[in-house]
Amino acid sequence: MQRGHPLILPKTIRLESASYCQLKCPSCPTASGAIRPGVGTGHLRLDNFKKLLDDNPRITRIELSNYGEMFLNKELTKIMQYADSRGVLLTADNGVNLNTTTNEQLEALVKFKFHSLTCSIDGGSAETYQRYRIGGDFNRVVEHVKTINAFKKRYRSRYPLLTWQFIVFGFNQHEIPLAKKLAADLNMKFREKLTWDDDFSSLRDQDKLRNALGFGVSSRREYEDKYGIDYTRGNCHQLWNAPQINWDGKVLGCCRNFWGDFGGNVFKEGLTRSLNNEKISYARQMLLGKKEARPDIPCTTCDLYESMKARNKWITMEEVGLSAQALRLAYRYFGGRPLYVRLLGYLVIAKETLDIYRMRLARALRPWKQE
Ligand code: SF4
Repeated sequence: MQRGHPLILPKTIRLESASYCQLKCPSCPTASGAIRPGVGTGHLRLDNFKKLLDDNPRITRIELSNYGEMFLNKELTKIMQYADSRGVLLTADNGVNLNTTTNEQLEALVKFKFHSLTCSIDGGSAETYQRYRIGGDFNRVVEHVKTINAFKKRYRSRYPLLTWQFIVFGFNQHEIPLAKKLAADLNMKFREKLTWDDDFSSLRDQDKLRNALGFGVSSRREYEDKYGIDYTRGNCHQLWNAPQINWDGKVLGCCRNFWGDFGGNVFKEGLTRSLNNEKISYARQMLLGKKEARPDIPCTTCDLYESMKARNKWITMEEVGLSAQALRLAYRYFGGRPLYVRLLGYLVIAKETLDIYRMRLARALRPWKQE
């Protein structure tokens, strides 16, 4: 623990279910093997998961997806069951490809009230989808979504909430309307996302995307120029509000970092200790602009940190409660003004608390609902 620093005790954490993936998407660091030295290849073990929850009853929400494919963890069903028994809400909103799963896993998503699932589907047809999701099968993914929906009907449940995430490239831009329609038919929300790799299949119609996204931009670079912050700046907030833990317990800090760690291991040294050690406390001070960069801190070589430093636009305590998406809304509607950012932060906390109580109520009513 670091003297002089407030203790960080988040209610939400991010914990990678499995760090490997069966697809070979061209811009993905998992597919290229870039994550291997820092993240390794493995999956979260049930015994570690149980102990973490038992030792940290304040944890109410866990995000399970990051660089790998969550469903490849063979213990996932039991992980969901245990989280359910402890009233912990699970999400996979960083994204899953949903190509390889079992009926048992799909039923467990519904039965154990998995809160929300974001599926990465970058196309409205099999042919287009395969251009980026190499090795994936569009029709199989759609079948899996239909199976989830059938279970939702059987269990009379709204969970998991489903989102279709569509990374926009030149090769798939024309299929956005088709994908939107399919998403609506499958009872999924639809969300376009800007690519991080401008060199892969450049957009054909930038104006169309500028209008569609509502931010008036068609690339992350344009976003940065227009709003003066990085498109994914909110990822840095995870150091405070939802720290990323690797499948083996290493502290990675945020979902972006795959090249180093912040020392400590939550399965060996405990969560509170690991999230408040010297290295991660120093990193937080760096992001607030209060300490100089240090070679052993992963942020030092991160382009988000470099961009913040170049603009002298450091993270503020008002914004750390917001996710990357919520921060983008704060800049879109309120120009990032601190008062509004803070108010939005309160709204996010209220919504997350409501999510937990809705889930718990649904659980309490479950035996009656399933009849
Ligand atoms: S600077 Fe980079 S590595 Fe550090 S918290 Fe932000 S996104 Fe993560």
